Amino acid sequence: MTAQLETMPTDWQRALAIVAHPDDLEYGTAAAIAGWTDERREISYLLVTRGEAGIDTLDPARAAKVREREQRASAAVVGVTSVEFLDHQDGVIQYGPALRRDLAAAIRRHRPELVLTINHHDTWGGTFWNTPDHRAVGRAVLDAAADAGNRWIFPELGDRGLSPWNGVRWVAVSGSPHPTHAVEVSGGIERAVLSLLEHRTYIEALTDEDPESYCRAFIDQVTSTAADRFGGRPAVSFELFPR
Ligand SMILES: [Zn+2]
Repeated sequence: MTAQLETMPTDWQRALAIVAHPDDLEYGTAAAIAGWTDERREISYLLVTRGEAGIDTLDPARAAKVREREQRASAAVVGVTSVEFLDHQDGVIQYGPALRRDLAAAIRRHRPELVLTINHHDTWGGTFWNTPDHRAVGRAVLDAAADAGNRWIFPELGDRGLSPWNGVRWVAVSGSPHPTHAVEVSGGIERAVLSLLEHRTYIEALTDEDPESYCRAFIDQVTSTAADRFGGRPAVSFELFPR
């Protein structure tokens, strides 16, 4: 039998979720976020791009507008109203100091105890290759959690009035092939399905399946996979990096 996952920490109030694209948080993580906002925790989203290269049939300028609107709607379904976008280019996000600086600036502004992101590993498990944007952003998030607390790494942030924040206690990576922790999400599953469904333009371009059936099947699969290692309770798993 596979080892059981530990329970996610609960002694925190503010989280910042940082991902590459609109929809990255809706493929599972949003079920956990719904439960956390029910508990009156404060969650903000930071999207590194507008996902403008994600819809084959829409040119990037139009896709960016549609996907930004869909992301704000999907966040609202799980109780998140703070949604910000950076202007990195979808598909070719570069890991490096510029990205780390942007993420460190956001962490200093929001002062979260928990930072969320999605899988930064090369694959989703086995030979299912991850995307370059997810790898770049996930790794930069793990680095920026420390950068945010060091006044000398990006001194220009201090000049902009963003004082160091060394209060990030954990970075939690969802979708990781190496999860360590989980949170039960029974109360959040329905909203997670509706939240993913808000990315309707994207999903309709992606699949011929009925959008709601597609969303429900995906969320059910994510939460039941984690349940196998969490006492049978529907859950979302995370690879937790304490700091
Ligand atoms: Zn993505």
